[in-house]
Amino acid sequence: MKEKINSKFIFITGGVVSSLGKGIAAASIGLLLKSRGVKVINQKFDPYLNIDPGTMNPIQHGEVYVTEDGGETDLDLGHYERFTDVPVHRYNNTTAGKVYLAILDRERSGGYKGNTVQVIPHVTDEIQSRILEAARKTDADVIITEVGGTVGDIESLPFIEAIRQIKYTVGRDNCIFIHLGLLPYLKECGELKTKPMQHSVKELLGFGIQPDIIMCRSEKSLTRAIRQKLGLFCNVSQEAIIENLSAKSIYEVPLMLEKEGLGKVLCKVLALPETEPDLEDWKLMVHRYYHPDRDVHVALVGKYVELHDAYLSVVEALTAAGIFHNVRVKIDWVDSEKIVDMDSAEEILGKVAGIIVPGGFGDRGTNGMIFAAQYAREKKVPYFGICFGMQIAVVEFARNVLGLVDANSTELNPTTEHPVIDLMPDQQGVKLGGTLRLGMCRCLITEGTLAEKAYKVHDIQERHRNRYEFNNVYREQFENSKMRFSGRNPDRNLIEIVELSEHPWFVGIQFHAEFASRPNRPHPLFKDFVGAVMEMN
Ligand code: GLN
Repeated sequence: MKEKINSKFIFITGGVVSSLGKGIAAASIGLLLKSRGVKVINQKFDPYLNIDPGTMNPIQHGEVYVTEDGGETDLDLGHYERFTDVPVHRYNNTTAGKVYLAILDRERSGGYKGNTVQVIPHVTDEIQSRILEAARKTDADVIITEVGGTVGDIESLPFIEAIRQIKYTVGRDNCIFIHLGLLPYLKECGELKTKPMQHSVKELLGFGIQPDIIMCRSEKSLTRAIRQKLGLFCNVSQEAIIENLSAKSIYEVPLMLEKEGLGKVLCKVLALPETEPDLEDWKLMVHRYYHPDRDVHVALVGKYVELHDAYLSVVEALTAAGIFHNVRVKIDWVDSEKIVDMDSAEEILGKVAGIIVPGGFGDRGTNGMIFAAQYAREKKVPYFGICFGMQIAVVEFARNVLGLVDANSTELNPTTEHPVIDLMPDQQGVKLGGTLRLGMCRCLITEGTLAEKAYKVHDIQERHRNRYEFNNVYREQFENSKMRFSGRNPDRNLIEIVELSEHPWFVGIQFHAEFASRPNRPHPLFKDFVGAVMEMN
């Protein structure tokens, strides 16, 4: 499998326990290198057997992050894009499901020419080729690959073996391994414990991988003695032991890691020229985040609110808009099933200065969302409907303003008399899995609208993930009333943005603006939504 590849590779594995923030660490590494002028791209390998998270329950998996090219990917890819501002692609998220699907398809079409198909070499070769794909398809100097799961998990073994083998494919000097693990703090003896980390590194060594850098997640600072012990037992120099304390904001993590010397060590072990990083903008952004003038309260009304990660990019986009305006956006998480009429809407939403209804699927909890949209419209509270939230606003308007009592989306009631939101014709009868309208689509913005005020241009592209759309049969009826269409897809004549006249700020978008927001470059619609929220008090 020898071939000439010019990029260098960083592999990040996790140890001891899961949920240590490997994604944030990988994203931070991307930022530290990028801030030194290195071209990077991040990618993630997930050892589960789903082809992608697109069909997984958000309560289990968190949000599905949609890439520009329409990949439905793990939420860590959102962190990568927000930290590095480098667009990732669908091929930057590989699951075991994708690997096996490719292999089994090839086997069925005779691609293995009668050979026995095995985990080694076929699965590991397939994984390697996907690691290298990022190098072939981009001009990145460094490819940062996060291996999901914890070292020792049965399902991640082929991935660990593949990254061991890749040393020989791309040359030992061209790849490094970073192991991120937990140092638990034992209150009783007032000490950080290194034994679980030692065992985890031993396990990795057993698979033939010697980490070059050890990142220690801990609640307390590492003492010299701890660093010495870890260095001795894990065969790494002191400078390659990096403390990774819990931070108040994820955006502070790269700055903390830089202070710990991670950027320098990375340059050294990757044999990159040692340059000073330019993190000034990032520092300023973090400073602003920590020093808001005041709080503003926004309700997020959805049905997956028990897992905040189900709306991760929306939360980060609100945070970014808050940073821009020097306010901290506090989110009231509202389970839409708790809103059962206008009285409960008043009770639950009466305290907030803005309402967001984000993306969603299926009927459960939609009545509460419709009441939330009605409440926002009637009480003139800023409303931002994202994808499903736009469709909900359209249904509410049709029912309560246009008098189409039974109006609905055919997703929620297939036999409604007034299907104001309907399945797109090309979605009829399609199978599940990667088949929605996905990725970037064009949208033309109408003059004199809130959308124009936000975007300041008339031709934009945004990321989509939907099957249903506004039904153009009803267009005139809406337009003759107080709902305006301020964004339209020119290729298919689809309504992309709706807004209310005679309302301070009521906007529904058929796409997912949250994916395009960056911490130091908030999305214009989120910026204006938070601006309108600030006007409320
Ligand atoms: N369920 C709706 C659709 O498929 C909205 C999807 C979403 O919010 N992402 O059109």
